[in-house]
Amino acid sequence: MKKLYFIIGSQDLYGAETLIQAEKDGREMAEYLCGELGDIAAVEAMPVVKTAAEAEDICIRASADKECIGVIMWMHTFSPAKMWIRALQALSKPMLHLHTQYNERLPYDSIDMDFMNLNQSAHGDREFGFICTRLGIKREVAAGYYKNPDLIEKLRRFAYAAEGVSFGRTMRVAMFGNNMRDVAVTDGDRVESEIKYGWNVNYYGIGDLCDIADGVSETDIDGKMAEYSEKYDMGTDDLAAVREQAKYEIALERFLDKENISAFTDTFQDLHGLKQLPGLAVQNIMAKGTGFGPEGDYKTAALCAVLCRMAQGRQGATGFMEDYTYDLAAGEEKELAAHMLEVSPVFAANKPEIQVHPLGIGGKADPARLVFDGIEGEGIAVSMIDMGDRFRLVCADITLIKQPEPMPKLPVARLMWTLKPDFATCAAAWIYAGGAHHAVVSTALDAEDIRLFAKMTDTELVIINDKTDLNSFEQQLELLEIKARLKK
Ligand code: MN
Repeated sequence: MKKLYFIIGSQDLYGAETLIQAEKDGREMAEYLCGELGDIAAVEAMPVVKTAAEAEDICIRASADKECIGVIMWMHTFSPAKMWIRALQALSKPMLHLHTQYNERLPYDSIDMDFMNLNQSAHGDREFGFICTRLGIKREVAAGYYKNPDLIEKLRRFAYAAEGVSFGRTMRVAMFGNNMRDVAVTDGDRVESEIKYGWNVNYYGIGDLCDIADGVSETDIDGKMAEYSEKYDMGTDDLAAVREQAKYEIALERFLDKENISAFTDTFQDLHGLKQLPGLAVQNIMAKGTGFGPEGDYKTAALCAVLCRMAQGRQGATGFMEDYTYDLAAGEEKELAAHMLEVSPVFAANKPEIQVHPLGIGGKADPARLVFDGIEGEGIAVSMIDMGDRFRLVCADITLIKQPEPMPKLPVARLMWTLKPDFATCAAAWIYAGGAHHAVVSTALDAEDIRLFAKMTDTELVIINDKTDLNSFEQQLELLEIKARLKK
């Protein structure tokens, strides 16, 4: 069970009565928060912290507890912050500093100095905030009465992002083959990815998959075909081609399961032993939340798995997408996003159809794939790039739209969207920022989720939205460059 530690700060100057009350209040608050966040992680109250040794113990315990995805800190009373230095230095889990109170209103009639002693987070949280700032601790500060729905929403966001970070810490990613020859943006520093995010990224020969595929029985394939028939329309007579994909999917499932893999890549340049580029097989797997990146794009695959995890249990769709081509009618510019094959059916507006068509690249047999039109709605496109000395996330707000006209000859699934604040600004900003042609698109998450993930992982982030102005955006990029150089 995932946990969030609720850590209540105080000190030993107030006497037993105040401390007992602080502990009682804290337990009640943790219980309430657990009711609001329990579907993501259980909120567990820790004993009230009175000394530096207790603070350190609890932060070491949180850091070592594999079930703990993050900590919520709150100073019920004043808590002199030098006692938190060693504790914060030992803390390796994401932190939310909850600036709240046990009481919502002031008890004007009865307020006295005992009340003031017990309920002084306005005082204690500032002291705690100072030491966090002084130590350069990345944390999220959320302020307000702890039952306020807006505050609860902030805590839930934090919990989702903490879960994404925690999931990534032990995540394994498989690359079948390397990244596409000569392509720059899909490449990256895999060692640094593991140091920074925990993502363990390894190469496998496609032959490892072929060997498993050879062992898939016709009966197994019948079962997968039944799953396809239930979920999708069969728009082809070439059942042999579809069965070939069913075989790949079963092999992929067995491989991912055996190796405990949460995201994978393949490449059309390394398909030795496979008759087709995996299309339908990958699409059906992506819909289950497994990360995928084509052409060996491990960063997109890993980010996709993490964002799918953060989106778990929330309304909306999340998956890999590629920028492809535009409708550039002035003032009504639209982007058409697709891929050779691998678009997740979570984005389908209609029941996807299985079709078999030639693939103009790779020199393999005609692959079966799902074809559908995309959903509508507000969303984000997120791209991760390797700047050489750091990773950068580029996040753009987009509006997914219904395609204005049918595209009967386009043999792949597609999404269409518009950019903010307008096409020219967003497209230029994305390109200035170095954003890739591969992204993770989500209608379940928004820029706030990405901001939290970036903060907790100390990843550089640039956001493009309806407020973006190119002049300040370029200045922001220059400042980030200077910051990176200073860090060196
Ligand atoms: Mn691509």
